[in-house]
Amino acid sequence: MIRLIRSRWLLWCLLLASWVVVPAAMAGKFTRVVIDPGHGGYDNGGMIGVLYEKHLALDVSFRLKEYLAKKGVKSVMTRSRDNFLPLEDRSAIANKIKGSIFVSIHFNWVSYGGPSGTETFYFSPTSAPLATAVQTSIATALGTPNRGVKFARYKVIRSATVPAALVEGGFISTAKERSKILDPRYRQRLAEAIGNGILQYRRQ
Ligand SMILES: [Zn+2]
Repeated sequence: MIRLIRSRWLLWCLLLASWVVVPAAMAGKFTRVVIDPGHGGYDNGGMIGVLYEKHLALDVSFRLKEYLAKKGVKSVMTRSRDNFLPLEDRSAIANKIKGSIFVSIHFNWVSYGGPSGTETFYFSPTSAPLATAVQTSIATALGTPNRGVKFARYKVIRSATVPAALVEGGFISTAKERSKILDPRYRQRLAEAIGNGILQYRRQ
């Protein structure tokens, strides 16, 4: 009888431990998403006429923040207005938040016509799964060319000590793609796809 009680106690302890430990382990991938709207202030980023990359990046970042909040994911933005912030100051915000991840939002601009699609960059090997999850999600959702997940030495991701990815959400220098990007529905789909990529990363 005593042995039975002891084994029941053991069972309850194991059950309790699994309730306490498992959810904590599942949620352990990150504590917060640091969203970095590329450029800002005197740094317009890519531009064509009066269309500036910095404005589009901020717009998508706000949409991403709102989408993540709906999904119960906490996030902070490195800038929430049109101000300049040095690259190392952006990643420093993430580096100070224990267990955070860093996602920088950009749009592509090249001096020659034609290229289209999305791509996502990473620097450290530990950032590759985050970049892959985000790129897979946006390429699927947007249906534009998947330019892949790429290694790059961009300072803003190189200076991050937490998993960091830099998303290029399309080419504003290519007329056909620019007209898509100008549509708020595209930017909403992009933001939600980045968010779903982040959620997928957390499930891994
Ligand atoms: Zn940029």
